[in-house]
Amino acid sequence: MKIKEITLYHVGMRLKTPVVTNFGSIIDKDSVLVKVRDTDGVIGWGEAPAFSIPWYSEETIGTVLHIMEDFLIPLLLRQEIKKPDEVFNLFVPIQRNNIAKAGLESAIWDLYAKRHHLPLAKALGGNKKIIEVGVVVGIQTTIQDTLQLIESYMAEGYRRVKLKIKPGHDIRFVKAVKEAFPHLPISVDANGSYRFSDLATLQELDRYGLSMIEQPLAAGDLIDHAKLQAVLKTPVCLDESVATFEDIRNAAEFSSCRIISLKMSRLGGLTATKRVHDFCRERNIPVWCGGMFETGIGRAHNIALSTLDNFTLPGDLSGSSRYWERDLIEPEVFVKQGEIEVPVQPGIGYEVDLMQLEKVMRGKKTFNAMFR
Ligand code: MG
Repeated sequence: MKIKEITLYHVGMRLKTPVVTNFGSIIDKDSVLVKVRDTDGVIGWGEAPAFSIPWYSEETIGTVLHIMEDFLIPLLLRQEIKKPDEVFNLFVPIQRNNIAKAGLESAIWDLYAKRHHLPLAKALGGNKKIIEVGVVVGIQTTIQDTLQLIESYMAEGYRRVKLKIKPGHDIRFVKAVKEAFPHLPISVDANGSYRFSDLATLQELDRYGLSMIEQPLAAGDLIDHAKLQAVLKTPVCLDESVATFEDIRNAAEFSSCRIISLKMSRLGGLTATKRVHDFCRERNIPVWCGGMFETGIGRAHNIALSTLDNFTLPGDLSGSSRYWERDLIEPEVFVKQGEIEVPVQPGIGYEVDLMQLEKVMRGKKTFNAMFR
């Protein structure tokens, strides 16, 4: 593959439900979409779903555009690429900036799959025809709001729910949800908001038969996670803690968790995520695919990724309508009875709706290869 042209689209899309962060609510989700075109005119799409503020990771839309434009894109335009795995090595000299790397690398994967007339899932080595998914319920002000939201998601066919929790907003909510929906599998995600000194609260949560407690402690804290997992029946799932292959090796050695959530944007692309996936399979650690409020383009990549065989737990991959009035792909992603059908068309398997993309675009920049 000789990349001829790369276009970056900065988009902003109104969320149906704002995301509550320590910086305040996010009402419009920004993202960077990547279109790569090779010298044969074949096109691949990727997404770097950074946020405009550094609440989830240190990267933002601004840093993603800067790192892509000044460092990653010049590398990509400089040489021929035979297989998408090469892009991971190409980017190694640039420290971290995984969301930026993933946006470009995933676009190359889509291009590669399309050139070989393969669905992306197949190109990655996945075999599933459908994937199981669950829905995430953000922190709501009242228990009543939480129960109503869950009821509406169940009516849409979701069969698993993940509740976001934080100190002071935990036991009462979990108890009420368990009482209202005794047969619904429930997990919780604390996004690292507890400390080991909150052990009593976490042990109380342990009594509710949750399918997992995700990222209870801070991201760097593999040691306290290990101490916590040793005393909890509920599996601890690490999410923010795993940003590199070394992180997962350490977590496995320390027994810091029993489950891992993989986000290809956090790990720097599909190749890096496959490597962590394979390691987890060897160590009997099941994984599932997390989301970062991607548009349909990133969502399509996540669906393909989830077809790998150690993704044995349902991912946070809701349908398009969970987030947007209108997504950027055709057809949109639909969830039926807690499942999404894996597309069989080449590449990501969805068409990008260019008219809709124009409507939500905040900026666009194109880079061309200087051919020798
Ligand atoms: Mg999480």
